[in-house]
Amino acid sequence: MYHSITDTADDPYRVTVSPVRFARQLRWLCDRGLRGVSVRELLAATAEGRAKGLVGLTFDDGYADFLDSALPLLLRHGFTATVYVLPGRLGGENGWDADGPRKPLLDEDGIRRITGAGMEIGSHGLRHVPLTEADDTTLAAETRHSRALLEEMTGRPVDGFCYPYGQVDPRAIRAVREAGYRYGCAIDPGPHTGAYALPRVHIGENDTSWRLAAKRVLHPLRRRRPVGPLPVPCAPAPVGAP
Ligand SMILES: [Zn+2]
Repeated sequence: MYHSITDTADDPYRVTVSPVRFARQLRWLCDRGLRGVSVRELLAATAEGRAKGLVGLTFDDGYADFLDSALPLLLRHGFTATVYVLPGRLGGENGWDADGPRKPLLDEDGIRRITGAGMEIGSHGLRHVPLTEADDTTLAAETRHSRALLEEMTGRPVDGFCYPYGQVDPRAIRAVREAGYRYGCAIDPGPHTGAYALPRVHIGENDTSWRLAAKRVLHPLRRRRPVGPLPVPCAPAPVGAP
């Protein structure tokens, strides 16, 4: 799980990885015979039993720096990725992060260019609202309407939704499924883990080779779907990284 790829010393929410570090992380994957792919591609491969060696790469929030920083490096390695964008904040900025720094978000043209380069575009909702706190009207708009806008913009089906702040509960999951998405990305969904609450691991600027190796080993163990019946009702999901 990535967010922004750029050079900055001001990163209170730990959402930024420098292009140099990002390039090293992609090289790390390559050196181990691993290939970065979009979540759509990863799930299709998993269904066909050919996901070995594939690593899903995701970019939340739709930062405009993806185009100049991440995309060329991904293409150079022959990788794909999924970018979860905010069609209610096109060309805007990350106003939900109170402490800043302000970062520009992708506009319509940028989203089309990313699609044209072979990447998957998914929805992060309309305006980065935590779905677990949204009323019914907002919940429907954030899921259903954002998907319709992105499908119209890209001319392609939008299969993936990514929960803002990683916050999931059964009601949010139902809304995402009923809006026509085929999967949902969370962070650490615990008992909700499944196709509509996929766990992901945060990758940051300090993730050097040995830390990536540790995360690779630990991720499937720590984020394993709990065995046994699903507990209901569920405790509120912890607030993760933005
Ligand atoms: Zn986000």
